[in-house]
Amino acid sequence: MPAPLALLRASTPAPPLRSRPARRTAMAMVTNVTSDDALAVHVTVSSNFDGGAIAGVESRANVRGAGVTAVHIKRDEGGAAMHFAFRAGNLRRGTKYQFALLGADRATYAEGWASSSYKVWASEDLENWFQVEDTTHPGEAKTGDEDEHPDALRWSIVANTTAVTFAYYPLYTAEQTARLCARAQSQAPDMCRWCPSVLPTAMSNVGADVLFFGSPPPHWPGYNQNSDANRPMIWIICRQHPGESQASWVAEGFVKKLLDEPGLAAVADIAVVPCINQGGASAGAHRHNLAGADLNRAWGAPNAATSPEVLACRAAVTARGANVLLDIHADESLPAVFRSHSAHGVPGISKDAMALRNRFDTELLKRCPDFQTEIGYTAPPPGKANTNICANWATETFPWALAACLEVPYGSVAHRPERGAFSPARCRELGVALVETLESILPHMNINNY
Ligand SMILES: [Zn+2]
Repeated sequence: MPAPLALLRASTPAPPLRSRPARRTAMAMVTNVTSDDALAVHVTVSSNFDGGAIAGVESRANVRGAGVTAVHIKRDEGGAAMHFAFRAGNLRRGTKYQFALLGADRATYAEGWASSSYKVWASEDLENWFQVEDTTHPGEAKTGDEDEHPDALRWSIVANTTAVTFAYYPLYTAEQTARLCARAQSQAPDMCRWCPSVLPTAMSNVGADVLFFGSPPPHWPGYNQNSDANRPMIWIICRQHPGESQASWVAEGFVKKLLDEPGLAAVADIAVVPCINQGGASAGAHRHNLAGADLNRAWGAPNAATSPEVLACRAAVTARGANVLLDIHADESLPAVFRSHSAHGVPGISKDAMALRNRFDTELLKRCPDFQTEIGYTAPPPGKANTNICANWATETFPWALAACLEVPYGSVAHRPERGAFSPARCRELGVALVETLESILPHMNINNY
C-alpha cells in the first residue's frame, strides 16, 4: 500500500533532466478533519496509470471550501501544463462531489479553457467518456456550490460508480495503440505489419509502434525489395504532442477504414504512427517528451539524445520518401478542425503544391462536416516558415507531396455547436474522411517523385 501523501505541491523540485521521473501515487488521506469535509477526505486520488497526470493532491488543510478534492496541474519535462488525468475512488453512489484543478489559471494555454468551451471529460468504464456539464473555467463565477478556488478549473459530479477517471481529453493509452495494431495485423495479415516499439523514445523504454499497410521502408524489418517502387507512400504521424490524444483517435478511425475498405491500401504503401511520443504520453506529458523536447520543433536537426523519436522517424521517411504526410494535432484554444497554413511559408513552395493543398481542403470539406477553412493559423510570410516543424520540413524536402498539419479542438466546433464536443467518435469520423479524401486526390497527384 502506498504511503499516504498529504501534500505534493506543484513546487516539488523537478527531477534531474536525465533521470526518469518517478510515478506518483497520491492518496488524499488526512486526519483530524471536520465533519464538513468528511466526504472529500475519503476520496482517494491516483494518477498511477498510463497517461495519468497530476502534480499531487492538495492538503485538506489548504483546501478552502468543504467537500472539495483539489489536485495540482502537472508541468511536463519541457514546462508545459495543460493535460491532466487522475482517478477518484471511494465514491458513494448518488453523492455529489466537487473537484478543483489548482494552477489551471497558469496553464500553458490557459485562454483555451474558455475559448474552446472546455468541459472536463470523465469515464466510469474507461471505454465510454462523457463531458462533465458542471465545469467552471478559471476566473469564471461558479453558481450554486461554495466557490473558494476561483482560479482553478472546477467541476462536480454525482457519483454513479465508486471510481471515476477524469482527463483533459479521453485517454488513448499505449495498450489501446497495441490493440489497434494487433487487431489490424490479425484481421489483414497479408496487408498489415505491426512494428511494436520500433521507434525509440527519449529517456523511456516504452518505444513507439508503427503500423504498415504494404512494405515498410528500406532497412526496416519486413522491407520488401520486390515491392512496386512506384506505389505512393503515405505517412500518418500522430501525437508528437502527447497531450493531444485526439490524434490517436483519428488514427484509429483511419486504420479501421483501411481494414473495412482497403481501396487506398491496395494502391499505396501506408505507415501509421498512432503515438510517436509514447514516452511522453505514458508519463502524462502535455507537449514534450521526457527529455523536455518539443518533437514538432525538432525535424530540422533531430538528435539521438533529446529527440530520438524524430531522428528515427525522419530517417524512415527520408529512406522511403513521401507522397502524403499528415501530422495530426489538437489545438487547445481554437474551436475548429483545420489545416495549418504554416507550410505556405516554406521557401520556394510551388503553385502546384498550393493547388494540391486546396484540392485536399475541397475534398475533405465534402466528407467531413467538422472540417472548415475559416478558422486557423495565419500563414507566415513567404519563405519564413519554421522548417523544424514536421509538415514544413516535409513540404520543403518533398515539394511534390501533400504534407500538412491538421488540428482539431478539445471542445466544440464553432460552426456545429449543437453537436457538442469534438468527441473521440468525431475524431474517428475524421480518420475515415481522411482515407476517402486521400483516395480521391491520389489519382491527381504526381507519384513518380521520391
Ligand atoms: Zn500539437
